[in-house]
Amino acid sequence: MTEQFDLITIGGGSGGLAAAQRAAEYGAKVALIEPAPLGGTCVNVGCVPKKITFNAASLAHALDDARDYGFDLVVKGHDWAGFVAKRSAYVQRLNGIYERNLAKKGIAHIAARARFTGPHTVEAGGRVLSGRHIVVATGGRPSVPQIPGRELGYVSDDFFGLTTRPQRVAIVGSGYIAVEFGGALRALGSEVTLLARHDSVLRHFDEYLQQGLLRALAEDGIRFVGHATPSALARGKDGLELSTADGRSHGPFDAVFWAIGREPCTADLDLTAAGVLTDAQGFVTTDGFQVTNVPHIYAVGDVTGRDALTPVAIAAGRRTADRVFGGMAGRHLDYANIPTVIFSHPPIGTCGLSEAVARERFGAAVKVYTAEFVPLYNGITDHKPKTRMKLVTAGAEGKVLGCHIIGPGADEMLQGFAVAIRMGATKRDFDDTVAIHPTASEELVTMR
Ligand code: FAD
Ligand code: NDP
Repeated sequence: MTEQFDLITIGGGSGGLAAAQRAAEYGAKVALIEPAPLGGTCVNVGCVPKKITFNAASLAHALDDARDYGFDLVVKGHDWAGFVAKRSAYVQRLNGIYERNLAKKGIAHIAARARFTGPHTVEAGGRVLSGRHIVVATGGRPSVPQIPGRELGYVSDDFFGLTTRPQRVAIVGSGYIAVEFGGALRALGSEVTLLARHDSVLRHFDEYLQQGLLRALAEDGIRFVGHATPSALARGKDGLELSTADGRSHGPFDAVFWAIGREPCTADLDLTAAGVLTDAQGFVTTDGFQVTNVPHIYAVGDVTGRDALTPVAIAAGRRTADRVFGGMAGRHLDYANIPTVIFSHPPIGTCGLSEAVARERFGAAVKVYTAEFVPLYNGITDHKPKTRMKLVTAGAEGKVLGCHIIGPGADEMLQGFAVAIRMGATKRDFDDTVAIHPTASEELVTMR
């Protein structure tokens, strides 16, 4: 028997949950299909356990600084296994909260993998469901380099299951996960080597941030190896040995992590049965309204290959439900000026155009303001990290096109500035805003 729904959401991560719950609030009859614990990547193996790990690492740094603030501390170590158990228990609590929220909203949760059998029909766990509308929100999975010995390496999902902290760690990659995991492991006591294909990290972000982070990594004792493209991984006498294409050998390591990006989870969906098209990498293609080439099938979140961030998946899911079930014609997600934070040590907050991209687009009309300083917090510590800030502006009115910060607190600083940028703030608006003293963020409104 075919069960009828107004909306079927495939995937119970950030995007799928958001679309399903918002649609149910409008009175739609909704089914959500998710075989794994609810919450998806973010809750189970992403943002949430990652941020808790970032907090542990930040505490390790604070304990070092505490001595300079007069505390007589003897830190006997860090109980990784105990920490991991508490972190997992917290994630499980969240899984339960999501489950109860679905039940409260009358959403049918089908705990199985879904596969299209036609444009309106989906099979999951032996049940056949038909949806007037269908949202594909199946997210992504970590990519692994196609080299000999790749199975000996870990991916980010494995990190959260480790009950002992590896001492000698290599991280291959140079993006968000590489610098976040590298910084956290280092702060908690591991020896970390970061291997990147080129000569920098976070190459898609403003150069000023890249240079600031490379310096911070070195100061923290993270070994950065550039121009290192992995070619093989093997188990040697004393641990894992990583070879790179230039003939070098690196190691031995206790753990090697692949952190080289993510690919879409579409292989088992049988999208062709519904006639849904993907791009060459398998990401589901959509228009500006999250609509695929099939008018009643939508895709949101990481599976679309655009700005793979939780709030983006949530915003796209909610706006799609607002439009389709809430009568809000035209409602859609604007992908411009999406703020993002990299939870490195120190963190990075960035929104809008890098200087390089702004110069490509606006040439000589671009004017840039920078500030570099040791935060007051570090005025009396031995450790003297530098905070860096950059505003990218353009035109006679000095419209702020980009705001880039690396330094303690950047993660919490950025949200408000992102609102200002979205509203079209100018440098004059920043100048006319009275500073909050003494803070680091005041530098952003006092730049000359
Ligand atoms: P997901 O959350 O991945 O959910 C997809 C769900 O679909 C999964 O639960 C999967 O089981 C299910 N699924 C797959 N195939 C099927 C099928 N055939 N049938 C049924 N269900 C299926 N973003 C931030 O904004 N901030 C952060 O700090 C942050 N940290 C991160 C740290 C790490 C280590 C990682 C890996 C990611 C991080 N992200 C962060 C990114 C964020 O987790 C993702 O952008 C977000 O989870 C995407 O949501 P989604 O709904 O598109 O996909
Ligand atoms: P990223 O896309 O951030 O970075 C991966 C980098 O790895 C690439 O930019 C590339 O850098 C390098 N790379 C690609 N292929 C290879 C290869 N074959 N060998 C060696 N290096 C390679 O991916 P991550 O895996 O770090 O994270 C995935 C996504 O998850 C992020 O893009 C982000 O959207 C999301 N995320 C968000 C977080 C947050 O919001 N704080 C935290 C973690 C993840 P190069 O070109 O320089 O070699």
